[in-house]
Amino acid sequence: MRQNSAPPPGLGTPLQYLKGVGPERAKLLARKELTTVEDALFFVPLRHEDRTRLTPFRALQPGQVQTCSGVIVGLSPPPPGRSRVPFTAMLRDESGYATASWFGGAYLGRVLKRGQRLVLHGKVMRYKGAINLQHPDYEIVEAGEDERLHTGRLVPVYSTTEGLHQRALRRLMWTIVEQFGASVPEILPEAVRTRRRLAALPAALRDAHFPESEQAQATARHRLAFDDFLFLQLGLAILRSRTTRARGIALNPPGDLVRRLRAELPYRLTGAQERVWDEIRRDMAAPFPMHRLLQGDVGSGKTIVAALAVLTAVEAGHQAAVMAPTEILAEQHIMTFRQLLEPLGVTVTLMTSASRPRERRAVRAALAAGEIACAVGTHALVQEGVEFRRLGLAVVDEQHRFGVEQRARLRAKGEHPDLLVMTATPIPRTLALTLYGDLDVSVLDEMPPGRQPIKTVARTESKRGEIYEFLRKQIAEGRQAYVVYPLVEESEAIDLKAATDMARHLQQHVFPELAVGLLHGRLGFEEKDAIMRRFKAGEIHILVSTTVIEVGIDVPNAALMLVEHAERFGLSQLHQLRGRVGRGPWKSYCILLHAGKPTEDAERRIEAMVQTNDGFRIAETDLSLRGPGEFFGTRQSGLPQFRVADLLRDAAILEDARTEAQAIIATDPELRDPAHRGLREGLLQRWRGKLGLASVG
Ligand code: ADP
Ligand code: MG
Repeated sequence: MRQNSAPPPGLGTPLQYLKGVGPERAKLLARKELTTVEDALFFVPLRHEDRTRLTPFRALQPGQVQTCSGVIVGLSPPPPGRSRVPFTAMLRDESGYATASWFGGAYLGRVLKRGQRLVLHGKVMRYKGAINLQHPDYEIVEAGEDERLHTGRLVPVYSTTEGLHQRALRRLMWTIVEQFGASVPEILPEAVRTRRRLAALPAALRDAHFPESEQAQATARHRLAFDDFLFLQLGLAILRSRTTRARGIALNPPGDLVRRLRAELPYRLTGAQERVWDEIRRDMAAPFPMHRLLQGDVGSGKTIVAALAVLTAVEAGHQAAVMAPTEILAEQHIMTFRQLLEPLGVTVTLMTSASRPRERRAVRAALAAGEIACAVGTHALVQEGVEFRRLGLAVVDEQHRFGVEQRARLRAKGEHPDLLVMTATPIPRTLALTLYGDLDVSVLDEMPPGRQPIKTVARTESKRGEIYEFLRKQIAEGRQAYVVYPLVEESEAIDLKAATDMARHLQQHVFPELAVGLLHGRLGFEEKDAIMRRFKAGEIHILVSTTVIEVGIDVPNAALMLVEHAERFGLSQLHQLRGRVGRGPWKSYCILLHAGKPTEDAERRIEAMVQTNDGFRIAETDLSLRGPGEFFGTRQSGLPQFRVADLLRDAAILEDARTEAQAIIATDPELRDPAHRGLREGLLQRWRGKLGLASVG
């Protein structure tokens, strides 16, 4: 038993010990990741329903999402075995009648009874002349002592799970907010709160759940979202301030190698490339570690900029590592880098997990001895046991495939080497601030001259014959083509077979007079290399491939991209694929072949591709379709989770939080000031020790 003198049970109290919870319900709550009082306090509702103003049935507007209430006067369950008929309830209020129907709602027969009052929230439709709510959220209103929680106010609606009912959860949340909300300590410095006009934390928690007005609810949400962003930005600001304070290597050679390479190039750098190279060169010359993101749409010419950086490191007597996300891209890079660097006497070596153990051992030894100037590879480069003698520069290509952790691991391979991260995923500014808040950003916002916009069209199967004719015509004019198959992970073998069969079919029956090649991830380096070389040399006209060519491949003469099953690809993937064409002076085409009736999302993806070539707009659409978590995949899991904030909706708050975080870290880089104690504790908790801050004693 707790002694009377002990402090009152705090935010860490397991929910299980609260009155009315118990082990069973605790298990259900845990499914929502709710285990402590604190979890529950920050478990904000999905939305609020204004039950002070229920819409009378007669005033319901088809097409709108509305809230209304009525008494059940009749129920019609679907006939047995007719699962496609919805369960329908007929309801009445003072103004008239309405129906509500739920597909797959047979179980409702055990839940709903005539005479019950329901509150309904959902989309209003007109069905056979009558007003109908389709698949509305419903709640049975029971008269009782806690009725004021569920009716006649702004009522919170939480995300529930099977067995955990809305009303019970709401009641529990009410108890928790009442009992603990007021005693949550304020963590923000007073000055920040005043400057940004933020609600106090206890009030914000109360109003986020049980507000008296819409305004109060919005103010509360704003405060909580601000905290989410602040903690994220504080962590990033700390990481960043540590890098800038760390002593790095000043890579500042005379620049002979760079001059020689530039003199050899068959083209001039674009203005954007010049500017970006200048930014990188200055960073490398400075005695602090570079920490820079190079952002440039597919085909904007990032590789040559990276090559200049590599040469600079090498000329300064250091080693460089170039890391790519896939074998095939690493292999492509090794070809490009060899071509560019070896004539200048710089040795470039490949290291991937596909390399043979003996080779790998040899490469490892040579790296450790400092005999290799530039290593190109996959994540194999950051694995245990790989040591560099003098790593001066790490380049990470196609950053969106790598997580924060891998990035950090590569950096740890040297004494604060310079880091250049490249990405072709143009990231909306809000996200760049979030994910790369610890990086400086350079943008290649100009394409090499002579590029023509790629024409993108969506076609269905019925047009296959015409598409083949078009392909034949393009090839007759000297171009080459890609035919890409999706790789659906759960059935790699089947997909591979589809691509293999397709290649054979095209070769034997459709284009017997042309050379058709096949490229996929299961081939060894030598084979892939041979095929890519033949394709580059124009000996293969049509390259059938799985998505292994998605990133980085560069064959300027290929002007046609045919994507099979386009509906199965993600949006950024489609954009990357399309980026394989339009790299030369010829008009290029991207044909998205899709099944007749794609899902709504697939349709929007295809539509976006047809509408625009602009990577920024593509990224934004992709983000809104998938949400940030999906957009960046689990690989970005190095960052703390938001409790309330929404990157898309709360962009302005993010900027404010970032400004405040930077100001705080500028004066107190490790949060040692007692006034920042609350922040420090919050930070430790949210970043789960990843910042290496000592906990407060
Ligand atoms: P990405 O940014 O997608 O990695 P790459 O570096 O592969 O793009 O460059 C795409 C193509 O553009 C390559 O064929 C490259 O040789 C060419 N390229 C790069 N810079 C220029 C330039 N300034 N002028 C003309 N072509 C260029
Ligand atoms: Mg590239």
